Amino acid sequence: MATTNEGKIKELEQILGDEGLEVTGLGTMAAAEDIENGSTFVENALLKARYYHRVSGLPTIADDSGLEVEALGGAPGLYSARYGGPDATDGDRLIKLLEEMAAVPPEERGARFVCAAAIVWEGGERIFEDEARGFVTDGPRGEGGFGYDPIFYYPPLEKTFAELTPVEKAEMSHRARAFRRLAGWLRQTGALDTIKTGGRIMNSTA
Ligand code: IMP
Repeated sequence: MATTNEGKIKELEQILGDEGLEVTGLGTMAAAEDIENGSTFVENALLKARYYHRVSGLPTIADDSGLEVEALGGAPGLYSARYGGPDATDGDRLIKLLEEMAAVPPEERGARFVCAAAIVWEGGERIFEDEARGFVTDGPRGEGGFGYDPIFYYPPLEKTFAELTPVEKAEMSHRARAFRRLAGWLRQTGALDTIKTGGRIMNSTA
């Protein structure tokens, strides 16, 4: 998996379950600069998965994600990690977003976390996307999670993402949903054996 984030690796391992796969992250492999220069989450996930597949020779999964706020025309979107400039912290980014939203009334504060998950192997590539829909709060709430979690209110559980337990987050998040699609496809199509041997997959549907 094209990440150094142990949390993501654990999440993927859990979702893949007992498929006889060993998931390994980038470890100490040098991260390539400027790979994520596509114009969509899908493009970025594919660019990353293709690059690390080429470097590692292994079937590679990569994801790209971010927060899209309706009232801001989809910002911060692709720039979620860089919103507020290179030196900004997660806290700075929250404050900036809340400031931008200060005049926006409750009914217009809709937002979604989006995730694209790509798998690239010798014989081909597939991409899966999913989302979690909610609202931007008017102030941070909760101690868990990371990034924009404290200001993302998730109506089905009546909590911000930062108030979810780790188990709830791993179940509800945009990333978990996209990973589940990928894992479901691996199972349903019997793609796993084909991917393990590097072969092409015929007649498959996402
Ligand atoms: P990445 O695709 O995992 O690198 O995420 C890009 C950026 O989107 C992160 O740096 C966060 O700012 C934001 N983001 C992605 N997923 C989440 C999430 O689950 N909670 C909060 N912020 C997130």
